[in-house]
Amino acid sequence: MTKPAPWLTGVYPGSFDPVTLGHIDIAARALKVVDHLVIAVGANMAKAPLFSVQARVEMVTAELQDNAATKDKSWEVVPFDGLLVDFVQKNAAQVIVRGLRGVTDFEYESQMAGVNRRLNADVETLFFMAREEHKNTASRFVREVAALGGDVSSFVTPRVAALLKK
Ligand code: ADP
Repeated sequence: MTKPAPWLTGVYPGSFDPVTLGHIDIAARALKVVDHLVIAVGANMAKAPLFSVQARVEMVTAELQDNAATKDKSWEVVPFDGLLVDFVQKNAAQVIVRGLRGVTDFEYESQMAGVNRRLNADVETLFFMAREEHKNTASRFVREVAALGGDVSSFVTPRVAALLKK
């Protein structure tokens, strides 16, 4: 009996406001596991984002195109609105990809994974532990440091740092 070729699609959702080195690392590592990764840029954020959803889609796309670990892999960056499990199903994906930086993330992420599992038991959440050097990198801090004129070069790429300066 011939088995069908395995094909694993993951959805990596986030606000990416802005995309950080931590996000890029998670996408690169997820792409070692999944065949195709859909990076879903959230449009319906509770607070007004610093960058428009279109700007964030372009920003993430540019970074993944430029990165040696991701540029030749199969991925797409799309705006996303609505219920995540529905989006996962529409994209014929099987897993949600998330990053974990520490205990604060764990509490929230474990609840969210639980809610998503109740909504659709076929969708699994796959977690990647943040690299040591990215443990304290969060978009919120990057926005705050940039607004106060601080150096964000250890958190984001030069391209994103330039966009933040504008
Ligand atoms: P943030 O929490 O920085 O505003 P997002 O909401 O865009 O970022 O996060 C999307 C996903 O990426 C979440 O699962 C989050 O835990 C993960 N993530 C964010 N920053 C990092 C990082 N520095 N290292 C690993 N994972 C991260």
